[in-house]
Amino acid sequence: MDQRAERAEIVVDAAAIRANARLLRATAGVPLIAVVKADGYGHGMVPAARAAREGGADWIATATQDEALALRAAGDTGPLLCWLAVPGEDYADAVAAGIDVTAYSVEQLDAIAAGVTDTPARVQLKVDTGLWRGGAVPADWPRLFERAREGERAGLWRITGIWSHFACSDEPDHPANDQQQAVFDDALSAAAAAGLDPEVRHLANSAATLLRPGARYDAVRCGIALYGQDPAPGHTADIGLRPAMTVRTHLAMVKHLQPGASVSYGHTWTADRPTTVGLVPLGYGDGVPRHASNLATVGVAGKRRPIRGRVCMDQFVVDLDGDDVAPGTEVVLFGEPDAGTPTAQDWAAAIDTINYEIVTRIGGTRVPRRWIDTDGAHDTHHTESEES
Ligand SMILES: *Cc1c(COP(=O)(O)O)cnc(C)c1O
Repeated sequence: MDQRAERAEIVVDAAAIRANARLLRATAGVPLIAVVKADGYGHGMVPAARAAREGGADWIATATQDEALALRAAGDTGPLLCWLAVPGEDYADAVAAGIDVTAYSVEQLDAIAAGVTDTPARVQLKVDTGLWRGGAVPADWPRLFERAREGERAGLWRITGIWSHFACSDEPDHPANDQQQAVFDDALSAAAAAGLDPEVRHLANSAATLLRPGARYDAVRCGIALYGQDPAPGHTADIGLRPAMTVRTHLAMVKHLQPGASVSYGHTWTADRPTTVGLVPLGYGDGVPRHASNLATVGVAGKRRPIRGRVCMDQFVVDLDGDDVAPGTEVVLFGEPDAGTPTAQDWAAAIDTINYEIVTRIGGTRVPRRWIDTDGAHDTHHTESEES
């Protein structure tokens, strides 16, 4: 125990991520590309990648080169993929580190070539199959694939993968899914016709991995499911994924309210009966959405307790419903679903967002994260400083 009590902490269980990776790989039946962008969806990128590898992840993927380079610097020597660059990006470090970079265009291939010294770059091509976000649109495929093959012949790079991304995989009956998969097949045929023979062709994120077996191709790219969050609430069967993150704090104060007392900024909630309320020392400065004002619940003393009034920068108030709960009692914002506390998905549903946003934003810059390992077979208690 520290001398000073922690205000709050985010606890992440490596065993959950390891088990989820194992489960996803076994379910998919193809190699797993574990996605750890945005600091491992808020869980901690380096330990998340380590746990995913221990659980059998064949590849690790990030959005940016900086993230992938940070993984190399932390000692990850396995296959790594990144996919988001900006014009003028320097690819030399990623190429030298053997990281697979992604090209969306001929211009990007040329920028990658500029970073090549002796060994050819490892390059994956992203095709746009109907997300209309990143990737090469079909009209540009002939020129892209032709240049890609030329560069292979010239020893500039090796095209290691061709991939795309779904727009609506969390809605399994959405017609866009079939359409995108058909367009992806067209892209693969066109690439093969141009003489490209990549190691991996991949399309599925977590939701598609679980809901569209036909979209698994040579590998699946799973992010949210790796962290034990349901990628398509209402559609996915329970395959036993375990949420890896728990957010805990303690009641800073408890008080009795009389009817008519209005709580927090703007007085948006008024007690209509005598009750007790507790002060939770976390707020939007810690990534607790202000939108959760009067909407979400937290777990205190074995029950779900509603937030009353506005979430402030550093604190919010919960209704203890007259219960005599002592200051210092543990508060779980989400996690520990077996203990009946809310889940990240409960928070997402309460405020009309997705569990991705809840776990990725929680903590901000001031809540410490502590890694535990309930498997016991591995090192326990990686602290934040050991993460990088
Ligand atoms: C974030 C991301 C993923 C992972 O998606 P999940 O839904 O979290 O599994 C896969 N591919 C791309 C391109 C992404 O940006």
